[in-house]
Amino acid sequence: MLLKCPSGLNVSLEIMTTRTRFAPSPTGYLHVGGARTALYSWLYARKHGGKFVLRIEDTDLERSTAESVNAILEGMTWLGLEYDEGPFRQTERMDRYQEVIHKLLDEDKAYYCYCSKERLGTLRADQMANKQKPRYDGCCRNLTVPPAESGSPVVRFRNPAEGSVTVKDLVRGRVVFNNSELDDLIIARSDGSPTYNLTVVVDDLDMEMSHVIRGDDHLNNTPRQLNILAALGGKAPLYAHVPMILGDDGKRLSKRHGAVSVMQYREEGYLPEALLNYLVRLGWSHGDQEIFSLDEMINLFDIEDINSSASAFNTSKLLWLNQHYIKESSPEHIAHHLSWHLGNLDIDPAINDGPDLIELVKVQQERCKTLLEMAAASVYFYKDIEVYDEKAVAKQLKPAIQTGLSALRDNLAALAEWTPESTHGAVKATAEEQALKLGKLAQPLRVAVTGGAVSPSIDKTLFLIGRERVLQRLDHALKMIEEIASAA
Ligand code: GLU
Repeated sequence: MLLKCPSGLNVSLEIMTTRTRFAPSPTGYLHVGGARTALYSWLYARKHGGKFVLRIEDTDLERSTAESVNAILEGMTWLGLEYDEGPFRQTERMDRYQEVIHKLLDEDKAYYCYCSKERLGTLRADQMANKQKPRYDGCCRNLTVPPAESGSPVVRFRNPAEGSVTVKDLVRGRVVFNNSELDDLIIARSDGSPTYNLTVVVDDLDMEMSHVIRGDDHLNNTPRQLNILAALGGKAPLYAHVPMILGDDGKRLSKRHGAVSVMQYREEGYLPEALLNYLVRLGWSHGDQEIFSLDEMINLFDIEDINSSASAFNTSKLLWLNQHYIKESSPEHIAHHLSWHLGNLDIDPAINDGPDLIELVKVQQERCKTLLEMAAASVYFYKDIEVYDEKAVAKQLKPAIQTGLSALRDNLAALAEWTPESTHGAVKATAEEQALKLGKLAQPLRVAVTGGAVSPSIDKTLFLIGRERVLQRLDHALKMIEEIASAA
């Protein structure tokens, strides 16, 4: 940008827009590690009024699948990590990579390598036997003419032979790599297809990334990428390599430790904001604050506060956060997410006869740690009871309660209006008439109308189930008691 100064001099000002990206390879679901780097990149872009780019790194045709692309997009959408640009797909940029590969070849910054797989295999085996780090020995580096019997060559990047590369990592600090340790890496395979280290550099350059925030499993790639970037005359982005996530046994988090897929957390009844809050804290902190709204995350997040050591995934903390958000969120918000879980149980509150979903959430939200639990505990409000809790039936639906329940049924049927207060009044009055303690009547009633021993307060439960269903269920329970009595 050129600014006119009062002095008459033109001053060139480079104004760097913050541009971050999430660049998953679509070879599986969106896992929590990926989601965390996506979140950090997203937060950083949002904090600085920048842009967040989604790039699908799908050049590995054998391992990339359309289902995985969908799963990643679905996960991002569910988490609310909306991107400003993309999704770009590397497979749609092949011409551009070829252009760059040829430019590097033309400028002698890359060369064809004709070494056979066998030769490379032997080289590697020898190096390993001599306890050396396996690396290409530069055999074709200075070839001027192709060997007589040459198959399809690969293209290798001519890495500087001397000197060092310094990665000024925003999390790790300065990490120095000697060029003597870096290979002349392959940038195009023998079929001409570009490799990861080439495509990522071209994309980060073309997409004008200002910050690359990614897992520290890529730290060793960074010096190689910096060398390629320099060969292309590009300006390096700033890097932040985020330490990995460990399982509770200190090993790298994997399926063995439980859910690692973002969408599995949805299935298990977590709210996206709980998972985001959990992930932001897993590897980043702001004092000892644990709960962060999205706005707070955006305001407070800074790359410099990312921990430089690995953090361990703690499911009980995530569960605690989930419970917090279930309790504290608006019933409308919870209802929105709960309806997906009810749908999985074949319940559509708009079609199935039953209470208003928001009213239901109001009585359940204090009681459940997950939405899966909430959905399972809400079935009897919308569907007939299919299975009764046997233990609860045996304990509560005994012949001795038959008279009490029957009187209660009549009192409930006679109520002028059906409200939590009126139903409560009927239960209380019946207990008094029948000289029963309230609990002695309320608990059999609960089993009769819900099929189990646990529910929200009985007055609200009755109110939400509705009079017709309550009476039907009481009739059914009275029949069950009769059958038990006659079988005895
Ligand atoms: N596609 C790489 C991966 O999924 C990420 C590359 C990067 O962030 O630079 O691991």
